[in-house]
Parts: sequence; C-alpha cells; structure tokens
Amino acid sequence: MVTSARTGAGSAAEAGAQAYQLIAELYPICRSITGEGNRETLRKLREHIPLQIHEVATGTQVFDWEVPKEWNIRDAYIKSASGERVVDFRKCNLHVVSYSVPVKARMTLEQLQPHLITEPSYPAWVPYRTSYYKETWGFCLSHNHLAALPEGEYEVCIDSTLAAGSLTYGDLLLPGKTADEVLISCHICHPSLCNDNLSGIAIATLLAKALGTRELRYSYRVLFIPGTIGSITWLALNESRAARIKHGLVLNNLGDPGKPHYKKSRCGDAEIDRAVVHVLKHSGSDYEVLEFSPYGYDERQYCSPGFNLPVGSLTRTPHARFPQYHTSADNLDFVQPQYLADSFAKCLAVVDVLENNARYLNCKPKCEPRLGKRNLYGTVGGLRDVPDQQLALLWVLNLSDGNHSLLDIAERSGLAFGLIQSAAEALARTDLLTKLEV
Ligand code: ZN
Repeated sequence: MVTSARTGAGSAAEAGAQAYQLIAELYPICRSITGEGNRETLRKLREHIPLQIHEVATGTQVFDWEVPKEWNIRDAYIKSASGERVVDFRKCNLHVVSYSVPVKARMTLEQLQPHLITEPSYPAWVPYRTSYYKETWGFCLSHNHLAALPEGEYEVCIDSTLAAGSLTYGDLLLPGKTADEVLISCHICHPSLCNDNLSGIAIATLLAKALGTRELRYSYRVLFIPGTIGSITWLALNESRAARIKHGLVLNNLGDPGKPHYKKSRCGDAEIDRAVVHVLKHSGSDYEVLEFSPYGYDERQYCSPGFNLPVGSLTRTPHARFPQYHTSADNLDFVQPQYLADSFAKCLAVVDVLENNARYLNCKPKCEPRLGKRNLYGTVGGLRDVPDQQLALLWVLNLSDGNHSLLDIAERSGLAFGLIQSAAEALARTDLLTKLEV
C-alpha cells in the first residue's frame, strides 16, 4: 500500500521502540484525574512536543459537573507490628485506591479488612481502583498477598491531600491550511498501567511529533486529559472551538497483542469512520469494527448529542476485554514495541486518508481518454502492480464527476486509498483531471 511505503516499515518500527521507551519512562508516575503526577507526565511529554499545559480551578462548573478537588499523594503503607511495610505504595502505586483521603491509624486486620480490595479471579495481580466522587480510603493488593497476611495489629498510613487546586490537561494545536480540526484525544488519569492510558499517550505524542514535521491540510488538536471529567471540562470551556472538529479519534489500548478494534462515532458513517475502516480493511491483518455505544472512553462526551462530533475510538483489545485490564498485569511486559509500531502505522495511514481525500474532475469525460499517449502507463509502478494501477486510473477517471471523493472511489473500486490517490495525482499532472479545491 502506498501509505506504508511513505511512512516506511522502518520508521514505524522506530516509532514503536520510541513509544515503548516513553511508556517505560512514564510508568512509575502516580497519575489520577488531578494532581502532581499529571503535571509531571505532561512536562515529560513537553520534551517531545510543544504542549501547552492548562490548569482549571477546583469548583469550576463544567456542564452538569464541577472540577473536583486536587489529589496528591506522597506515601502510603501498611506496616506490621514489627515495623515492616507489608503493603508499600512506593513499590506499586496501584496499592492505594486513587483519591483516598489521608489516614493514619492502628487497627487489627479485621478492622482493616473493609478497606482492602483484591481480585480473587486473578489472585496474583493487584487491582486498580478509584474513589473519585466518594471520600473514602483503601488499599489494593493481590489476593495471594492478603491471604498471607497474619492476624494482628497494623499501622496504616496514607499521606495524601485532597484539597482545592486544579485539574491539569495538555493541549497542542498543529496548524494546517484550514482551521478545520482533526482531534486526537487520550486519557492521562491512570497510574502505573501501560496499555490503558500510557499506550494512548505515547502514540498520540509520536503522532503529534510526526505531524509537526509535515505541511498539513487540517489543523490537528491533540488533547491529553483525565478521562471523563477532562473531556467534559475541555468541551465546556471550548464549546465554540468544538465545532471546528471535523474528524477525531480517541486513542487507547494500542500496545497489546490483540487485533485492532475501531468503534464508530455516533454518526456511524462519518469520514473518520470510513477512513479507519478502509485502512483496517486494506491492512492485511485481522480487525474488528464496533458500532457506537454510549460507553467506553471520552468518545462518550465528544459524541454526546449536544456535540455529536465525528469522533471514533481506536484500540487494539477494547475497554475491559483483556484480563490484565485495570490490574498490575497491564505492565511493561503486556505492551510490546511491535504492537505499538503497528498501531502507530495505522494511525498515520488514517491521517494520510484524511489529508489526501479530495474530489477531482475528469476534464475529458466523454468516452475514455487515451492513457498511453500521455505516458500514464509508463509512470506507474513495477510491472506486477500494473493491472491494479491501470484499474485505479480508470476508476478515478470514471468517478471523478465532482461528486465522488477519492475515498468514495477507493471504497467502490475495492482498491486501496493510496493506489487511488497515486492514480489521481498522475492524472492531475496531465490535461485529464483537475483537483477541485476543498
Ligand atoms: Zn481505564
């Protein structure tokens, strides 16, 4: 496919390695929906892309919600009577329920029990839990770990603060020829979880980096936001800008071995839906397309009826469908550079479709023009591709009546977008075809 030739398998592999490296760097940071961990994450991303970091004050009204208190945590542990840290936040930040209020107490295991969360179906893994909207505290640990804790008295400490502060998000606008925007959105609110949050963050960062070196048709807005409250906040504060979003993708779970899944926008047949489905169909590997549902990630907000933006969601294994989901097993072994590379290449291929999808007009529409005398057969590719290349020329000429876009032609002909695009570009260099400015 022309797209992969342009991005190059080598550069995709390189991007996969870079994405993995970035994930490894961000993995130890304790993120949540607010707090210092999010700022630290965004500051690290700013070493790669010129991100703007925004702060929105606690209490700010955002549609039916308000920006919550800011949560910060310095340390947490459960100590045995002998002073040993038997559960230690410093070893694994999933051990503390996110948004836990501070606690400093001595209690028996029985008294502690209601505050301990395990995942008995995966007894070796530490679950990840949150308590954003109810002020409580808790520890998560593996079921095996809990089973091994002896009865007795324990010292419990969560050194956290939950106080007025702000919600932090990152925003990058890459200006293109038009003010119409393509939105790339990912959530940054999970602590040490690789596939769920860090893979989306890493791919969005590398995508922004790659697009930053290109002449762009669209403007690209890349958002790094806490899930749900972040997209609600951005939409509430940028309501007029949201109308500029013509295409969008929510990125997450892009580093696992599962096949790619695309969840369509609420519109269902938006150009982004068609572009992603086209890329997956011609990728040569297995994939699945899911219809829209009002559940999942931030597409829920972008596709709420008051906005109804054409925003779909690209993942490998979707939300909650892998056993490692929201556990300590969503780690640096679970995500792998080759899957990140594949996800990155697919994102770039989608961008290539959006950037190059255009309408052309056949200037000699009465019967077929003679291609041979214009050296069109000679200009195209290696011999083995000739039949498809010729077919692409004929399809482009036939459907370029001003009403069909290159993506329409690609879909109808069954040929890859890159092939149709190359044919249109070759024809446009002659007197046969002219591009209609969009
Ligand atoms: Zn999650």
